[in-house]
Amino acid sequence: MIDFSIAPKTLKAIRQAHKTADYLKSIARYYDDHEHEELKPDEVKTLKELTVAPGLALAEPGPGDGGMLSSIMLSEVSCMGDPMITQSVAGFGLGNAAIGAVATPEQKARFGHLFCAMAITEPGFGSDTSAVATTAKLDPDTNEWILNGEKIFVTSGKRCEAVVVWATLDKSKGRPAIKSFVVEKTRPGCTLTKLEHKLGIRASDTASIVLEDCRIPFDNILGSPEIKEAKGGQAGVLATFDATRPHVASQALGVARAAIEFTKEKLEEAGYTFPYDKGIHSLNAVQKEMLDMEANLEAARLLVWQSATMLDKALRNSLESSMGKAKAGSACSRICQRCVALLGPLGYSRETLAEKWMRDVKINDIFEGTGQIQMLVVCRQVLGFNRTQLK
Ligand SMILES: Cc1cc2nc3c(=O)[nH]c(=O)nc-3n(C[C@H](O)[C@H](O)[C@H](O)COP(=O)(O)OP(=O)(O)OC[C@H]3O[C@@H](n4cnc5c(N)ncnc54)[C@H](O)[C@@H]3O)c2cc1C
Repeated sequence: MIDFSIAPKTLKAIRQAHKTADYLKSIARYYDDHEHEELKPDEVKTLKELTVAPGLALAEPGPGDGGMLSSIMLSEVSCMGDPMITQSVAGFGLGNAAIGAVATPEQKARFGHLFCAMAITEPGFGSDTSAVATTAKLDPDTNEWILNGEKIFVTSGKRCEAVVVWATLDKSKGRPAIKSFVVEKTRPGCTLTKLEHKLGIRASDTASIVLEDCRIPFDNILGSPEIKEAKGGQAGVLATFDATRPHVASQALGVARAAIEFTKEKLEEAGYTFPYDKGIHSLNAVQKEMLDMEANLEAARLLVWQSATMLDKALRNSLESSMGKAKAGSACSRICQRCVALLGPLGYSRETLAEKWMRDVKINDIFEGTGQIQMLVVCRQVLGFNRTQLK
């Protein structure tokens, strides 16, 4: 049975996260306009005082530890303010979720306090993660891994302290040879080469990173160095998606929730009411649309919570995490677009954050696997097909 009961300490943290979100909203437009600019020291101080994204400190999300659900609940609320400033100040990136999911206790102690980005994508591929060309070779004399390759579109690649890098131990052995490695940014041979200019999430940096004979200790590999065929489900390096996808989905939920709340408030000011006890035939188009958006947001949220709860119970959740991300990515993108439309000129104007939410939320349907890729993962599992049978 699925139990979504919320612990008192999480409820308290959620209330606090709403205050954080209110503050984030007040500075969100500035950092959308000033892409790549660092937060001012007094803003960082205020955000730290507000204990930004407290759940992220409260919860070390990982299989069986009970923290994933509270972490994604808190992420949703914080992202109502701004999805990316939250991450930078909390020092919590997708690499942290991956470490929480698959690292050993010793590795969690070594890397848990670092702000970690996630670097999978390369110039040669995005969706097809089996095409990883970055290499990791073991130097038997020093017992170090030597990494070579280029990673692009690394969210928080500039601001992070370490990057979880996907690299292959032997390209000829395909997917089982792909492993993830924690690379601290201070390591010689790890160089930031480019910053992207983007449509949305402009408060975050998105970087290219080149690894040239970059040496890291043997123990920086996440999981086993053994190359063996996985048996079904998301095994090996792909298992990190089971933890990162609910996080990405929770960001979308937060942005869409902010858009719905704002739009409803403005429509109520204009005289609309939103009754929940009337038949559909008696609702006007605007009322019906609002209820439809709310129902879709709730449906997405329940799927995401389900995937997080399963991770907390150490159950395999790869199907559910893809379902949640697919639904949240598409529903939240549509919600933000519809809110802009319902708000009329106010929605399109930069006076409010509605147009920014529409731009920001789109990424949640792209990174950590696009909507189409999530549907592919879901279809394969539901229909019992493998990668060769359904691609
Ligand atoms: C702002 C931003 C931040 C990012 N952050 C990160 C990050 O932190 N770390 C990281 O590793 N990557 C990151 N990425 C990269 C992102 O994960 C990839 O862009 C994404 O995986 C898609 O890959 P692609 O762009 O190469 O598209 P492609 O793989 O070339 O796909 C193009 C289109 O074809 C569709 N498609 C592909 N294959 C199939 C299929 N088999 N069936 C149906 N449709 C298909 C896709 O859904 C997509 O619509 C980021 C990207 C952006 C834009």
